[in-house]
Amino acid sequence: MSKVFFIGAGPGDPELITLKGKRLIEESDVIIYAGSLVNPEVLNYNKKNAKIYDSAKMNLEEIIEVMKDSISKGLCVARVHTGDPSIYGSIREQIEELKKLNIDFEVVPGVSSFTAAASVLQKEFTVPSISQTVICTRFEGNTPVPTSESIELLASHKTSMVIFLSIHKIEDLVQKLLLHYKEETPISVVYKATWVDQKIVSGTLKDISQKVKNAGIKKTALILVGDFLGNKYDNSKLYDKFFATEFRDAKCSTE
Ligand code: SAH
Repeated sequence: MSKVFFIGAGPGDPELITLKGKRLIEESDVIIYAGSLVNPEVLNYNKKNAKIYDSAKMNLEEIIEVMKDSISKGLCVARVHTGDPSIYGSIREQIEELKKLNIDFEVVPGVSSFTAAASVLQKEFTVPSISQTVICTRFEGNTPVPTSESIELLASHKTSMVIFLSIHKIEDLVQKLLLHYKEETPISVVYKATWVDQKIVSGTLKDISQKVKNAGIKKTALILVGDFLGNKYDNSKLYDKFFATEFRDAKCSTE
C-alpha cells in the first residue's frame, strides 16, 4: 500500500533500528533521510534500489512535493529520522501537510539518542532515592524555548536532565545549571552515541566546559546531568525479596 512511513532510525549503530523500521526501509521505493544525523548505513537495508533524497538539503515544500509525487505514483516512502521521530524530529509540520493532502502515513518509533547515551554510560536515569524524573530539553537556539521551560526553572527540580542541541553553548548552560545543581554534580557529554567514533567526556559542573573544549566536541552531542550519574543509589522495591509484587510473594524477613 502506498504510504509515507516516518521511521526512527535510532542513534547511529545500524542494528539499533526496530525490525519494523528495517523492514519498511527494505521495502521502500523512495527514501528521504535526515542526512546530517542518520547513519547512511541504515539505507543499505533497502532492497528496491530506492531513489534517495537527503532532507538536509531540502525545505519543507520540497520534502512534501517528493512525498506527494511518489504517493501519486503508488510508491512507498520511508521518511527516515534520527533517533526517535517524536523528539526534535520536526515531524509535526510534515504530518499536517500530509493530512491536508489526504496522504496516508504512519509513525514508527526508534531508539532515541538520549536512551542510547544512558546505555553507553551504563546508567539508569531513574535511580530510586536519587531521581524519578527525566527532563529532556534544549538550550534556546534558532527555535525559541517557552520562558516557563527555561533551563534555570527546569534545573530547580534537580532531576536527571538531558540537554539536546546545545553542546556549542556548554559554558552558558553550565552557568544556568549552577544556579541549582552543586558544583560537584556529575555531568557527561556523549558525542555520537553508538557510532564508531563515539566519544564520552565525564566530569562535574566545575570542569566539564574545559574538558569538552579539550575534546573538541562542537556538535552531535548530548549533555546529561544529575546525581543519577554519581555513586549514590538505592535499590528498587521491584526486586526486593522482602517486598511482594503482583508476580512474586515476599520472603519473611526472619528467614
Ligand atoms: N530525534 C533525535 C534527536 C534529533 S535533534 C533523537 O531522538 O535522538 C538532534 C540532536 O540530538 C543533536 O544535536 C544531538 O544533541 C542529539 N543527537 C542525535 N543523535 C545523537 C547521537 N548519536 N549521540 C549524541 N547526540 C545525538
